[in-house]
Amino acid sequence: MAVMHEQTTGTRFRLFPQAPEVDEDQQPETVYVSSPSGSLMPGPSDERMYTVYPVGKQTHYGMHENENGEPLLFLPPWHAEVHPPAQPGPDGHFDHLEPGTREFESAHLFGCARFTLDVWERYFDRKIEWHFREDYERLELSLLPSVDNAFMGWGFLEAGGIKVEENYSAFFLNFDVIAHEIGHGIIYSEIGMPSQDDDNPEYFGFHESAADLVALLASLHFDSVTNAVLDNTSGNLYTLNRLSRFAETSDNTQIRLAANDQVLSEFVDGWDSEHKLSQPLTGAMFDILVDVFHENLLDEGLVSAEMEDLSDKLEGSDRYVAVMQEKFDNFYRQNPEGFKEALLLARDYLGTYLADAWRLLDSETLTYQGVNVALQDVDKFITGGRFNRIISNNFRMREIGLVKPGPRLEKMSPNSHLFSDRTVTPHTLG
Ligand SMILES: [Zn+2]
Repeated sequence: MAVMHEQTTGTRFRLFPQAPEVDEDQQPETVYVSSPSGSLMPGPSDERMYTVYPVGKQTHYGMHENENGEPLLFLPPWHAEVHPPAQPGPDGHFDHLEPGTREFESAHLFGCARFTLDVWERYFDRKIEWHFREDYERLELSLLPSVDNAFMGWGFLEAGGIKVEENYSAFFLNFDVIAHEIGHGIIYSEIGMPSQDDDNPEYFGFHESAADLVALLASLHFDSVTNAVLDNTSGNLYTLNRLSRFAETSDNTQIRLAANDQVLSEFVDGWDSEHKLSQPLTGAMFDILVDVFHENLLDEGLVSAEMEDLSDKLEGSDRYVAVMQEKFDNFYRQNPEGFKEALLLARDYLGTYLADAWRLLDSETLTYQGVNVALQDVDKFITGGRFNRIISNNFRMREIGLVKPGPRLEKMSPNSHLFSDRTVTPHTLG
C-alpha cells in the first residue's frame, strides 16, 4: 500500500480544518476537491450536490407537526427565496471568497462535504451513492443559522450553529461536524438505515463510531492538521491532542476522545447514549492507527526496536507519556518528513481497511466483534495478516468479543443521531 497524497488538481477551496473560534488566528487551508476546475456552478453546485442559503426559512427539515398535531415531514427542495449563491472565480475556483461572507460560508459547506466524499471515495475506490437516491439525485446543502444542530437527512445536509459564550459557533464552518454527518450518509448508503424495530445497541454505537472515524481520517488529509499533530506530539499520539478532539464546539461540547480508554464492560448493565457507547470501538480503531504508525516507523528505521518494545510495554500506563515523550522528541527531530509519511500510510491503511470491512457488514447482524473479524479478514487479504495481532489485541483491550452491552436505559434522547430528522423518510412514515 502507498500513501494517498493530496489532490493537486481540481477546484480550490479554502477550508477551516477546525472550528474557527477554537483558534482565532487560524487561517483556512487551501485545498483541492476532485471537481475539475470550471465544472462547478454557482452555489456551489454540481450533478451531486447544490447549496442553498434560504431567506426567511422558519424551521429545519425533518419531522414536524401541522396545526392539527398531525405529523408533517418537511423535505427538500427549498423553493423560496435564497441569498445570492457563491460564484466561482474566473478560473472556476472558490478560494477567492472572504471569510465572514455568506458566499464563503456556502462554499465552505460544499467544500467540506466534497472533500470528505473525495477522501472516502478513494478508500472505497468507487463512487459512494446517496442513500436517498430513490427520491433525490442530488444532496441539498442548506445553511440555516437559526437551527442549533447539523444533520444529514433524506436528501439534505442542513447546518446551523450555537452560541458559545459570546461567540456564534457555525457548524457550516466546522469541518468535523460536516464530515461526521457525511459519515452517517456513507454508513446509511453502505450498510443501511436503522429501522424503528432495531434494538441492537452495537449497531447504534457502530454508527456514531463510524461517523467519527470518517471525520477523524478525513481531517488527517489536511496538511495543517497532520503537521500540528506531529509538531505537538513528536509522534507520541497517545498524548491528548488536537487529533482526538472532535467537534470541539458542537452540541457535543464534551470532548469525545478518540484516544479514550473506555471498555465495553462499562456498558454491560446498560447504556443511555450511542455517542458514549461508540467510545470503546472508536478507541480500538485509534489504537490500531497508532500501532500501525509505530510499525511503519520501525519499518523505516525511524525509531529503534528498543523504543518500540518499551512503548508496547508501557502502553496504557501512567508513565507512558513521561517516559516516551523525550524518546519521540529525539527521533522525530531527526526525520519529521519520515514521521509524516509513516502517519499518512497508517491513516490510509485504516481508511482502506474500514471501507473494505464496512462492505462485509450488514445492519441486521452487526456487532463490534463482527467489525473485528471483518478487519482481520481484510488484513489477511491485503497483507497476509501482518496486522492481525495489532487488530485483535486492541479489540480485546476494549473487551470487545468478551462482553456485550446491556439494554438501553433511557428513552431515545433528543440528541440521538439515529431516530431523528436524520433517519425519517417519506417511506418510513408509511
Ligand atoms: Zn452522529
